Amino acid sequence: MGAGARLTIDWGALAANYRLLRDTVAPAQVAGVVKADGYGLGSARVADVLLAQGCRHLFVALLCEAEPLVGKGVPVYVLNGLLPGQEAECETMGAIPVLNSLDQARRWADLARTLGRPLPAILQVDTGMSRMGMPPEEVDGFLADPAMAQWLDLRFLISHLACADEPHHAANAEQADRFRTIAERFPGLPRALDNSGGCFLERGHFDLVRGGIALYGGAPRVGPNPMRPVVALESAIAQLRRVPPGAGVGYGMSFHAERETRIATIPVGYADGWPRALSNRGAAFIAGHRAPIIGRVSMDSITLDVTDVPAQYLYPGAPVELLGPHQTIDDVAHDAGTISYEILTQLSRRYERHYIGIPAQQESIAS
Ligand SMILES: *Cc1c(COP(=O)(O)O)cnc(C)c1O
Repeated sequence: MGAGARLTIDWGALAANYRLLRDTVAPAQVAGVVKADGYGLGSARVADVLLAQGCRHLFVALLCEAEPLVGKGVPVYVLNGLLPGQEAECETMGAIPVLNSLDQARRWADLARTLGRPLPAILQVDTGMSRMGMPPEEVDGFLADPAMAQWLDLRFLISHLACADEPHHAANAEQADRFRTIAERFPGLPRALDNSGGCFLERGHFDLVRGGIALYGGAPRVGPNPMRPVVALESAIAQLRRVPPGAGVGYGMSFHAERETRIATIPVGYADGWPRALSNRGAAFIAGHRAPIIGRVSMDSITLDVTDVPAQYLYPGAPVELLGPHQTIDDVAHDAGTISYEILTQLSRRYERHYIGIPAQQESIAS
């Protein structure tokens, strides 16, 4: 104990979110994207919950992130592909690279030829995001080189949507059209295009989707959020004071009290992933009452204006909701000028972590 806040992770909500995605995109299957340590929640534990729900594919971003997951009996794909020199390590580990360029395909095929057996891989093509995946001319180059391709045991053709969180963005249909056209050149190869936002676009979802933020309770797109919140964050009042009008608050005295103000100091700061952009912005909740953040967010603390919170709820140790029924990760992200992904992936290792909503039998798998 002695932590500044308690992070509660609800595995039952994660499982429910998986089932909602599954039912939304059926008959396509749902892969779990567990990069960045499972969006900050712990990739091995997240994977165990998803696997118990029937998930059979996992995606990470980096080869090092695949290591704790490769023993779980389902394929683990590495989205960022292979940097030069990583081929042997990837093969030994048993991870499956997403080949994002002709160069990566050549190096993976070269290793396969050396080993004398084809190696599994996913092929990613760029359909308009210009970030990862083969551009059209490299797809041509790939198809013109069957002597290389025979060493690749391709499992999926994938691409990634740039604007899936905006259902009416014209790029969604353009990318899907380009993807279909390219896929025709790979007959029989299973296809995967959609991330969380893509799962809620009203069209088919190919063979597999890659679910990330929606599994973790973030809004998959603008508008009402159909997902269940997975995290809650509760801190406590560390100290209370009353200051007169004109008093300065925090570093730089960026806030000055306009009235006699009651201030509560909370032991959570930017070192815990509570964004410094929330200086003089956003709020916490005490017994359901909104308490605005005043002054700058410090490394290890924030200050709240609690003048309008009923006095019975104000005492050292009193609970303070940072994430919970009154404030979602999307609310905090909005106030901080960022996205829920960043709020989740920055959640502190300093928090005491508390897990709920998991059947006892699964608990032993997860721990
Ligand atoms: C991160 C990522 C995903 C998951 O995206 P969400 O928006 O979190 O669902 C899917 N595919 C790729 C290629 C990614 O990089």
